[in-house]
Amino acid sequence: MGIFSRRAQDGDPFELGMSLWRQGRGAEAAKAFKDAVRADRRSVDAQFFLGASLAEAGDAKAAVAPLAKCVELAPAHADGHNTLAMVLGRLGRTRESEVHLAHAAYLGHPQASETLRELGLGHCRRCGDPVEREAPVEALVRYHGPRVGMECEKCPTVFCVRCVLGNGASGVAPRCLECGTTLRALRTTSPL
Ligand SMILES: [Zn+2]
Ligand SMILES: [Zn+2]
Repeated sequence: MGIFSRRAQDGDPFELGMSLWRQGRGAEAAKAFKDAVRADRRSVDAQFFLGASLAEAGDAKAAVAPLAKCVELAPAHADGHNTLAMVLGRLGRTRESEVHLAHAAYLGHPQASETLRELGLGHCRRCGDPVEREAPVEALVRYHGPRVGMECEKCPTVFCVRCVLGNGASGVAPRCLECGTTLRALRTTSPL
């Protein structure tokens, strides 16, 4: 068995997986991608499609590890972050899901940007972390929580508080890191 268990006529497990995946046969594709990952753990594509096919087959829990490996190997893999966000969301791991969704949006994934916006979130232009576009009511008083987005009045680029203020510079009026214009905390007025 081991590395000699693959017979020549089996072909490349990744190619087999892709062919099953294109036919919408997620569970069977996952088996083939599992073989592909076993053959090369550092294959970004094999890790991604293993996770994506497990997610499609309804196994969100098993999909987490390969997708996390995918974005660890390729931090700029927008689809990897987006799919990981989706499965973490299904598992109720909301905060982690939001981080990966924000990073997918940061990397230009259009669907992630849309989903993020629907959740009342945005992403920091500098670091890609999620920021709140709709602050809780308490934020109407002076203190803004660490996740409240700061939007430039001119660009209008959004940053997280940490990127704008760094550590312990809270006395300084926050300025846009792109153009230097004043930033305001993001919030929408309650319709009530
Ligand atoms: Zn930031
Ligand atoms: Zn600006």
